[in-house]
Amino acid sequence: MSVTHRLAAPTPGWTATTDVVVVGSGVAGLTVALNVRKAGLRAMVVTKAMLDEGSTRWAQGGVAAALGEGDTPEQHLDDTLVAGAGVCDEEAVRTLVTEGPGAVRRLIATGALFDRGEDGEILLTREGGHHRDRIVHAGGDATGAEISRALVAAVRTDPEIELIEHALVLDLLTDAEGHAAGLTLHVMGEGQRDGVGAVRARAVVLATGGMGQVFSATTNPAVSTGDGVALALRAGAAVTDLEFVQFHPTVLWLGPEAEGQQPLVSEAVRGEGAHLVDADGVRFMVGQHELAELAPRDIVAKAITRRMQEQGAEHMFLDGRHFGAEMWEHRFPTILASCRAHGIDPVTAPIPVAPAAHYASGGVRTDRRGRTSVPGLYACGEVACTGVHGANRLASNSLLEGLVFAERIAADLAGLHAAGELPERTVDVAAARAARPVPLPPSEARAEIQRLMSRGTGVLRSAASMAGTAAGLALIAEQAHSHVAEEKPADPRVETWEAANLLLVATALVAAAAQREETRGCHWREDFPERDDAHWRRHLITTLAASGDPVSTPEEQ
Ligand SMILES: Cc1cc2nc3c(=O)[nH]c(=O)nc-3n(C[C@H](O)[C@H](O)[C@H](O)COP(=O)(O)OP(=O)(O)OC[C@H]3O[C@@H](n4cnc5c(N)ncnc54)[C@H](O)[C@@H]3O)c2cc1C
Repeated sequence: MSVTHRLAAPTPGWTATTDVVVVGSGVAGLTVALNVRKAGLRAMVVTKAMLDEGSTRWAQGGVAAALGEGDTPEQHLDDTLVAGAGVCDEEAVRTLVTEGPGAVRRLIATGALFDRGEDGEILLTREGGHHRDRIVHAGGDATGAEISRALVAAVRTDPEIELIEHALVLDLLTDAEGHAAGLTLHVMGEGQRDGVGAVRARAVVLATGGMGQVFSATTNPAVSTGDGVALALRAGAAVTDLEFVQFHPTVLWLGPEAEGQQPLVSEAVRGEGAHLVDADGVRFMVGQHELAELAPRDIVAKAITRRMQEQGAEHMFLDGRHFGAEMWEHRFPTILASCRAHGIDPVTAPIPVAPAAHYASGGVRTDRRGRTSVPGLYACGEVACTGVHGANRLASNSLLEGLVFAERIAADLAGLHAAGELPERTVDVAAARAARPVPLPPSEARAEIQRLMSRGTGVLRSAASMAGTAAGLALIAEQAHSHVAEEKPADPRVETWEAANLLLVATALVAAAAQREETRGCHWREDFPERDDAHWRRHLITTLAASGDPVSTPEEQ
């Protein structure tokens, strides 16, 4: 297998070498880097913006792990499988929940400070879909910021971890056997490492996070443009479950025209007893699910959307007035501040909320060692699909997945290294040149892609709505091709590379979502409202055809 397509970009003008190159500096990437160092391998972390600019820093609620009295990995497994709606890979979930508590303890040993009670014990809370208090949190609702702080501090103290910020990774490089041998990237730097270059490595780890920016309204930061999934597709890797995008039910509603990253109102607010109400003050989740407001996210997001449609409303409300000022200030300082910054005081008024794109349950297909279908290419964190989330991620399982599977990748690489099976690789330059350059859309295409996706392939989808999205995306691709034919291609730069990645990921997502003719987990088809286990209790595997178009094939049952 070799890289069949690549982003149009200048020829690399410089080369650097390391043992393991990690793309991304969230919880997953930094955990890989710290752990491969323990095996005596050199690590290089390349990241698109500053080290802490991924989703990790924004995580509020916490990390799920069976640490509490009476709780067990088996119970955590049960809750995860229920949320996943029949398409979790049970062995992957078992790995997650059994190795999770140890991974959290190792994160604490690395320096992360979680909230503790007066007795010194770690405080545990509950979130949607969990039947136990098992969410560890930090700074009240600033868990991700604390994890990011601790991991960034740890990598900065190791001189053998090279950190390259403002470096956008473009494509994979392989050797003559099709084994990952490095990558191309664009560094917004100075001196020798400026512009497009290449990094040679024995193995490549993708930890590029999510793809929320493919939609107009999302909780994800600007860097979450699905680059890792797009790179993997161009490299010939299999991706899966792209249609399962989790829409967070309670995102602060900032008006009908709001676009880009929107403030999240964590599930933990409902966990502590806030109620979802409509404009008449009716608690519409009661009677819909045994857990009411704490039902799994897809159920709450669907119920909110349905109520909005019934009432012609643009949002619902989350009412936590009964918490009182002191609890808001201590337990949810970040959310309180962000609501107040937008003119809403949750102490005295209900918070307007609506669903927004939040988490990609699908991604680059990996096994339980983090290996993708391309030898030497690994993936972990939100970019990966290990199979633990199935059709719907259980709250607070993603930071945990990032930790557990990052450790497993490092362990796999350490094992290969110890066995002498992780040699240096020679990049097959001819193969890299032979890959077909993908025409770049103009940077303005980003907003159009987002609008098309939110309009036709959002919380609620149908064949007709998705056909509209697909046609719009195809037009953007055609225009990019015509501009190349007319010798007026878009400039290769960060904005156009990101637009090309968004376009590819969006096209693949719509193709998969259109093919899955059922409603399951967070994939809600208006025209196929029932779950159809006979046909669809399986994954859809997406790869890139020779034409450059994504093709989805149902996995054998
Ligand atoms: C608002 C919010 C709240 C959340 N709350 C929780 C929670 O309470 N509990 C929980 O478990 N999960 C939560 N999540 C989800 C969780 O935060 C993410 O799934 C997780 O942090 C992803 O970690 P990651 O390391 O995979 O990616 P990220 O932290 O997103 O990091 C990705 C990295 O890759 C870099 N990158 C991307 N593309 C490129 C490229 N082309 N070249 C170079 N670098 C690149 C980015 O710059 C970034 O450094 C939340 C997410 C959001 C947005």
